[in-house]
Amino acid sequence: MNKPIIGLDIGGTAIKGALFAEFGEIVARNEIATPHDSGQEFFIDSLCDFVRGLVDGQAVDAVGLGIAGILDPECTTLIESPNMPVLRGMPLKAHLEQRLHCPVIIENDANAAALGELQAGAGRGHANFLFFTLGTGIGSGLILNSRLWRGEQGRAGEFGHLTVYPEGALCGCGKRGCLEAHSSGTAIVRMAVEAMRQHSDTELRCHADTPSALTPEIVYQLARAGDAVCRDIFKSMARGLAIAIADVHNLLDMYTFIVGGGISRAYDYFSPMVMDDIDQRVFSSARGRLRLLRAELGNDAGVYGAYYAAREALARL
Ligand SMILES: [Zn+2]
Repeated sequence: MNKPIIGLDIGGTAIKGALFAEFGEIVARNEIATPHDSGQEFFIDSLCDFVRGLVDGQAVDAVGLGIAGILDPECTTLIESPNMPVLRGMPLKAHLEQRLHCPVIIENDANAAALGELQAGAGRGHANFLFFTLGTGIGSGLILNSRLWRGEQGRAGEFGHLTVYPEGALCGCGKRGCLEAHSSGTAIVRMAVEAMRQHSDTELRCHADTPSALTPEIVYQLARAGDAVCRDIFKSMARGLAIAIADVHNLLDMYTFIVGGGISRAYDYFSPMVMDDIDQRVFSSARGRLRLLRAELGNDAGVYGAYYAAREALARL
Protein backbone atom coordinates (compact mmCIF):
# COMPACT_ATOMS: atom_id res chain seq x y z
CA MET A 1 0.00 0.00 0.00
CA ASN A 2 1.26 3.48 -0.82
CA LYS A 3 1.92 5.88 2.01
CA PRO A 4 0.35 9.35 2.03
CA ILE A 5 1.87 12.24 0.05
CA ILE A 6 2.04 15.87 1.14
CA GLY A 7 1.15 18.63 -1.35
CA LEU A 8 2.46 22.13 -0.55
CA ASP A 9 1.53 25.37 -2.31
CA ILE A 10 4.02 28.11 -1.44
CA GLY A 11 2.65 31.51 -2.35
CA GLY A 12 3.65 35.09 -1.66
CA THR A 13 1.18 35.46 1.22
CA ALA A 14 0.41 31.93 2.44
CA ILE A 15 1.75 28.39 2.52
CA LYS A 16 -1.04 25.87 2.05
CA GLY A 17 -0.60 22.17 2.65
CA ALA A 18 -2.65 19.00 2.40
CA LEU A 19 -2.07 15.35 3.26
CA PHE A 20 -3.29 13.08 0.45
CA ALA A 21 -4.24 9.45 1.10
CA GLU A 22 -3.65 6.62 -1.39
CA PHE A 23 -6.40 7.49 -3.89
CA GLY A 24 -5.79 11.24 -3.90
CA GLU A 25 -8.29 12.21 -1.22
CA ILE A 26 -7.35 15.02 1.17
CA VAL A 27 -7.36 13.77 4.77
CA ALA A 28 -5.78 16.78 6.51
CA ARG A 29 -5.00 20.35 5.54
CA ASN A 30 -3.48 23.47 7.06
CA GLU A 31 -2.26 26.95 6.14
CA ILE A 32 0.28 29.43 7.57
CA ALA A 33 1.43 32.92 6.60
CA THR A 34 4.55 32.86 4.43
CA PRO A 35 7.53 33.81 6.62
CA HIS A 36 9.37 36.37 4.48
CA ASP A 37 11.45 38.45 6.82
CA SER A 38 13.56 36.17 9.00
CA GLY A 39 15.95 34.60 6.51
CA GLN A 40 16.34 31.29 4.71
CA GLU A 41 17.05 29.19 7.80
CA PHE A 42 13.89 30.37 9.56
CA PHE A 43 11.86 29.79 6.38
CA ILE A 44 13.07 26.18 6.12
CA ASP A 45 12.50 25.59 9.85
CA SER A 46 8.96 26.93 9.59
CA LEU A 47 8.23 24.86 6.48
CA CYS A 48 9.55 21.64 8.08
CA ASP A 49 7.50 22.27 11.27
CA PHE A 50 4.44 22.86 9.09
CA VAL A 51 4.99 19.55 7.23
CA ARG A 52 5.55 17.62 10.48
CA GLY A 53 2.28 19.04 11.82
CA LEU A 54 0.43 17.78 8.75
CA VAL A 55 2.09 14.36 8.78
CA ASP A 56 1.37 13.91 12.50
CA GLY A 57 3.88 11.10 12.98
CA GLN A 58 2.94 9.08 9.86
CA ALA A 59 5.48 8.03 7.26
CA VAL A 60 4.96 9.65 3.83
CA ASP A 61 6.15 8.61 0.36
CA ALA A 62 7.04 12.14 -0.75
CA VAL A 63 6.47 15.86 -0.38
CA GLY A 64 5.40 17.75 -3.51
CA LEU A 65 5.93 21.49 -3.53
CA GLY A 66 4.61 24.08 -5.99
CA ILE A 67 6.22 27.51 -5.98
CA ALA A 68 6.02 30.65 -8.14
CA GLY A 69 9.19 31.39 -10.05
CA ILE A 70 11.77 29.92 -12.37
CA LEU A 71 13.51 26.74 -11.24
CA ASP A 72 16.72 25.24 -12.54
CA PRO A 73 16.18 22.50 -15.20
CA GLU A 74 16.46 19.75 -12.54
CA CYS A 75 13.84 21.48 -10.31
CA THR A 76 16.13 21.63 -7.27
CA THR A 77 16.80 25.36 -6.85
CA LEU A 78 14.70 28.49 -7.22
CA ILE A 79 16.59 30.75 -9.66
CA GLU A 80 14.16 33.67 -9.94
CA SER A 81 11.05 34.48 -7.94
CA PRO A 82 9.71 38.02 -7.56
CA ASN A 83 7.38 36.91 -4.74
CA MET A 84 9.88 34.79 -2.82
CA PRO A 85 13.23 36.60 -2.73
CA VAL A 86 14.12 34.87 0.56
CA LEU A 87 14.52 31.51 -1.23
CA ARG A 88 16.40 32.72 -4.31
CA GLY A 89 19.47 30.65 -5.12
CA MET A 90 18.86 28.17 -2.32
CA PRO A 91 19.21 24.40 -3.01
CA LEU A 92 15.72 23.91 -1.65
CA LYS A 93 15.30 20.25 -2.61
CA ALA A 94 18.52 19.13 -0.89
CA HIS A 95 17.77 21.13 2.27
CA LEU A 96 14.25 19.78 2.61
CA GLU A 97 15.13 16.15 1.82
CA GLN A 98 17.86 16.25 4.47
CA ARG A 99 15.40 17.49 7.09
CA LEU A 100 12.26 15.57 6.09
CA HIS A 101 13.91 12.22 5.19
CA CYS A 102 11.79 11.61 2.10
CA PRO A 103 11.86 12.61 -1.59
CA VAL A 104 10.88 16.25 -2.17
CA ILE A 105 9.60 17.16 -5.64
CA ILE A 106 9.60 20.85 -6.54
CA GLU A 107 7.62 22.24 -9.45
CA ASN A 108 6.69 25.71 -10.73
CA ASP A 109 3.22 26.44 -9.33
CA ALA A 110 1.49 26.92 -12.69
CA ASN A 111 3.08 23.73 -14.05
CA ALA A 112 1.90 21.91 -10.93
CA ALA A 113 -1.63 23.31 -11.30
CA ALA A 114 -1.66 22.15 -14.95
CA LEU A 115 -0.83 18.62 -13.76
CA GLY A 116 -3.61 18.90 -11.16
CA GLU A 117 -6.17 19.91 -13.82
CA LEU A 118 -4.92 17.06 -16.07
CA GLN A 119 -5.45 14.42 -13.39
CA ALA A 120 -8.37 15.72 -11.36
CA GLY A 121 -9.83 18.83 -12.98
CA ALA A 122 -11.02 20.31 -16.28
CA GLY A 123 -8.11 18.70 -18.18
CA ARG A 124 -9.30 15.11 -17.61
CA GLY A 125 -9.69 13.43 -20.99
CA HIS A 126 -7.61 16.09 -22.79
CA ALA A 127 -4.12 14.94 -23.81
CA ASN A 128 -3.08 18.41 -24.98
CA PHE A 129 -3.94 21.72 -23.38
CA LEU A 130 -2.60 25.01 -22.10
CA PHE A 131 -3.58 25.84 -18.54
CA PHE A 132 -3.19 29.45 -17.44
CA THR A 133 -3.96 31.46 -14.34
CA LEU A 134 -5.38 34.95 -14.54
CA GLY A 135 -4.49 36.76 -11.36
CA THR A 136 -2.13 39.58 -10.46
CA GLY A 137 0.04 38.08 -13.21
CA ILE A 138 -0.47 35.32 -15.77
CA GLY A 139 1.20 31.94 -15.20
CA SER A 140 0.78 28.83 -17.31
CA GLY A 141 1.62 25.18 -17.80
CA LEU A 142 1.63 23.28 -21.09
CA ILE A 143 0.44 19.67 -21.31
CA LEU A 144 1.48 17.77 -24.45
CA ASN A 145 0.65 14.09 -24.93
CA SER A 146 -0.60 13.98 -21.31
CA ARG A 147 2.82 15.09 -20.01
CA LEU A 148 4.04 18.41 -18.71
CA TRP A 149 6.24 20.16 -21.30
CA ARG A 150 9.00 21.96 -19.37
CA GLY A 151 11.10 23.00 -22.35
CA GLU A 152 14.82 22.54 -22.90
CA GLN A 153 15.85 24.69 -19.93
CA GLY A 154 12.73 24.31 -17.77
CA ARG A 155 11.29 27.68 -18.76
CA ALA A 156 8.41 26.60 -21.01
CA GLY A 157 4.91 27.95 -20.61
CA GLU A 158 5.57 31.68 -20.26
CA PHE A 159 2.21 32.37 -21.92
CA GLY A 160 1.88 35.65 -19.99
CA HIS A 161 4.91 37.06 -21.77
CA LEU A 162 3.78 36.43 -25.35
CA THR A 163 3.72 39.81 -27.11
CA VAL A 164 0.16 40.80 -28.00
CA TYR A 165 0.75 44.52 -28.72
CA PRO A 166 4.33 45.33 -29.86
CA GLU A 167 4.10 48.96 -28.71
CA GLY A 168 1.87 48.17 -25.75
CA ALA A 169 2.09 48.65 -22.00
CA LEU A 170 5.26 47.99 -20.06
CA CYS A 171 5.32 44.55 -18.42
CA GLY A 172 6.96 43.61 -15.11
CA CYS A 173 9.51 41.59 -17.14
CA GLY A 174 10.79 44.79 -18.78
CA LYS A 175 9.26 44.10 -22.22
CA ARG A 176 6.38 46.01 -23.85
CA GLY A 177 3.03 44.58 -24.85
CA CYS A 178 3.11 41.23 -23.03
CA LEU A 179 -0.21 39.45 -22.51
CA GLU A 180 0.32 39.93 -18.75
CA ALA A 181 0.51 43.70 -19.25
CA HIS A 182 -2.86 43.69 -21.07
CA SER A 183 -5.00 40.88 -19.67
CA SER A 184 -4.01 40.26 -16.02
CA GLY A 185 -5.79 41.60 -12.93
CA THR A 186 -3.10 44.26 -12.68
CA ALA A 187 -3.81 45.29 -16.27
CA ILE A 188 -7.58 45.49 -15.64
CA VAL A 189 -6.98 47.87 -12.73
CA ARG A 190 -4.50 49.96 -14.76
CA MET A 191 -7.01 50.30 -17.60
CA ALA A 192 -9.73 51.23 -15.09
CA VAL A 193 -7.60 54.01 -13.59
CA GLU A 194 -6.82 55.36 -17.09
CA ALA A 195 -10.49 55.16 -18.12
CA MET A 196 -11.61 56.94 -14.94
CA ARG A 197 -9.53 59.95 -16.01
CA GLN A 198 -10.62 59.89 -19.65
CA HIS A 199 -14.37 59.25 -19.41
CA SER A 200 -17.03 61.13 -17.52
CA ASP A 201 -19.77 58.57 -18.14
CA THR A 202 -18.56 55.68 -15.95
CA GLU A 203 -19.32 54.60 -12.41
CA LEU A 204 -15.56 54.17 -12.01
CA ARG A 205 -15.49 57.88 -11.20
CA CYS A 206 -17.02 57.05 -7.80
CA HIS A 207 -13.55 55.66 -6.99
CA ALA A 208 -11.64 58.73 -8.25
CA ASP A 209 -10.55 59.70 -4.73
CA THR A 210 -9.26 56.22 -3.92
CA PRO A 211 -7.94 54.70 -7.17
CA SER A 212 -5.59 52.44 -5.19
CA ALA A 213 -8.66 50.67 -3.77
CA LEU A 214 -9.88 49.64 -7.25
CA THR A 215 -9.90 45.88 -7.83
CA PRO A 216 -10.66 43.68 -10.86
CA GLU A 217 -13.77 42.55 -8.95
CA ILE A 218 -15.13 46.14 -8.82
CA VAL A 219 -14.53 46.57 -12.57
CA TYR A 220 -16.21 43.21 -13.24
CA GLN A 221 -19.29 44.05 -11.16
CA LEU A 222 -19.67 47.43 -12.89
CA ALA A 223 -19.27 45.78 -16.30
CA ARG A 224 -21.97 43.23 -15.45
CA ALA A 225 -24.24 46.04 -14.28
CA GLY A 226 -23.97 47.64 -17.73
CA ASP A 227 -21.16 50.19 -17.39
CA ALA A 228 -19.97 50.50 -21.01
CA VAL A 229 -16.47 51.71 -20.09
CA CYS A 230 -15.92 48.70 -17.80
CA ARG A 231 -17.32 46.37 -20.46
CA ASP A 232 -14.75 47.78 -22.92
CA ILE A 233 -11.97 47.10 -20.40
CA PHE A 234 -13.00 43.43 -20.34
CA LYS A 235 -13.26 43.42 -24.15
CA SER A 236 -9.71 44.72 -24.35
CA MET A 237 -8.54 42.11 -21.82
CA ALA A 238 -10.36 39.40 -23.83
CA ARG A 239 -8.77 40.56 -27.08
CA GLY A 240 -5.29 40.07 -25.62
CA LEU A 241 -6.22 36.55 -24.54
CA ALA A 242 -7.72 35.77 -27.96
CA ILE A 243 -4.56 36.95 -29.77
CA ALA A 244 -2.33 34.81 -27.53
CA ILE A 245 -4.60 31.75 -27.63
CA ALA A 246 -4.94 31.94 -31.44
CA ASP A 247 -1.14 32.13 -31.76
CA VAL A 248 -0.66 29.05 -29.55
CA HIS A 249 -3.36 27.25 -31.54
CA ASN A 250 -1.74 28.16 -34.85
CA LEU A 251 1.67 27.00 -33.61
CA LEU A 252 0.63 23.73 -31.94
CA ASP A 253 -2.76 22.82 -33.46
CA MET A 254 -4.01 22.88 -29.87
CA TYR A 255 -7.74 23.24 -29.14
CA THR A 256 -8.15 23.15 -25.36
CA PHE A 257 -7.31 26.06 -23.06
CA ILE A 258 -8.10 26.07 -19.33
CA VAL A 259 -8.28 29.24 -17.27
CA GLY A 260 -7.89 29.43 -13.48
CA GLY A 261 -6.86 32.10 -10.98
CA GLY A 262 -8.84 34.85 -9.27
CA ILE A 263 -10.06 36.58 -12.46
CA SER A 264 -11.61 33.30 -13.65
CA ARG A 265 -14.52 34.16 -11.33
CA ALA A 266 -15.58 36.39 -14.24
CA TYR A 267 -15.27 33.45 -16.69
CA ASP A 268 -18.96 33.48 -17.71
CA TYR A 269 -18.64 37.15 -18.60
CA PHE A 270 -15.38 37.24 -20.56
CA SER A 271 -15.15 33.78 -22.16
CA PRO A 272 -17.78 34.51 -24.92
CA MET A 273 -15.81 37.68 -25.76
CA VAL A 274 -12.59 35.66 -26.03
CA MET A 275 -14.19 32.96 -28.17
CA ASP A 276 -15.76 35.49 -30.58
CA ASP A 277 -12.39 37.18 -31.01
CA ILE A 278 -10.51 33.88 -31.44
CA ASP A 279 -12.72 32.94 -34.37
CA GLN A 280 -11.50 36.01 -36.25
CA ARG A 281 -7.89 34.94 -35.75
CA VAL A 282 -7.77 31.26 -36.73
CA PHE A 283 -8.25 29.47 -40.04
CA SER A 284 -11.89 29.13 -41.02
CA SER A 285 -11.70 25.34 -40.69
CA ALA A 286 -10.78 25.75 -36.99
CA ARG A 287 -13.55 28.23 -36.16
CA GLY A 288 -15.84 27.05 -33.39
CA ARG A 289 -13.52 24.18 -32.50
CA LEU A 290 -11.37 25.77 -29.78
CA ARG A 291 -12.46 25.42 -26.15
CA LEU A 292 -11.80 27.77 -23.24
CA LEU A 293 -12.67 25.77 -20.12
CA ARG A 294 -12.80 26.97 -16.55
CA ALA A 295 -10.35 25.29 -14.15
CA GLU A 296 -12.08 23.04 -11.63
CA LEU A 297 -9.69 22.81 -8.69
CA GLY A 298 -10.11 26.42 -7.54
CA ASN A 299 -8.29 27.31 -4.33
CA ASP A 300 -7.01 23.75 -4.03
CA ALA A 301 -5.28 23.83 -7.44
CA GLY A 302 -1.88 24.46 -5.85
CA VAL A 303 -1.92 21.58 -3.36
CA TYR A 304 -3.48 19.15 -5.86
CA GLY A 305 -0.88 20.14 -8.42
CA ALA A 306 1.99 19.61 -5.95
CA TYR A 307 0.52 16.21 -5.04
CA TYR A 308 0.23 15.11 -8.67
CA ALA A 309 3.71 16.45 -9.47
CA ALA A 310 5.05 14.25 -6.63
CA ARG A 311 3.07 11.23 -7.83
CA GLU A 312 4.31 11.70 -11.38
CA ALA A 313 7.92 11.95 -10.16
CA LEU A 314 7.58 8.84 -7.94
CA ALA A 315 6.21 6.88 -10.93
CA ARG A 316 9.37 7.82 -12.87
CA LEU A 317 11.75 6.60 -10.12
ZN1 LIG B 1 6.36 40.34 -19.82
